[in-house]
Amino acid sequence: MNQASPPALRIGLGYDTHRIGPARPFLLGGVEIPWDRGLIGHSDADVLLHAITDALLGAASLGDIGRMYPDTDPENKDRDSGEMLAEAMRRVRAAGWEIVNLDCVVRAQQPKISPHAAAICARIAEILAISVDSVGIKGKTGEHVGPVGRQEAIEARCVALLYRS
Ligand SMILES: [Zn+2]
Repeated sequence: MNQASPPALRIGLGYDTHRIGPARPFLLGGVEIPWDRGLIGHSDADVLLHAITDALLGAASLGDIGRMYPDTDPENKDRDSGEMLAEAMRRVRAAGWEIVNLDCVVRAQQPKISPHAAAICARIAEILAISVDSVGIKGKTGEHVGPVGRQEAIEARCVALLYRS
């Protein structure tokens, strides 16, 4: 590889964790899921959209969500993570990249993610203006061990592949 012919593909990895707390609207991938608890966070605490945002920004070498939206900024309190993801995607496209696909894993002991996976894929595809078959979501439990298994936290991971548009 040389400077004159940069690679036409880029991969990005995003990872996020939020602590479980008292009841609060539980947003996952932009979809509200019924639950008697919620996630703690400065924004709306959508752990999956945060992981996707970081994967896309990372793949395009555009930094990360914390740099875009510092949690010290009161403007970002309860901020809509869908809006943050849409803005990240706007920057990714402006830098000349388009999405091949995303694949995501959500680790939650409770609630069950799989019944909501199709709705979450559809919402993410809508936010990003991509085809729904470019988005994969898998739900996993924590097997009753670690912070996820003890229901202290929910985690999300995402890999994103971009091509030069
Ligand atoms: Zn987060």
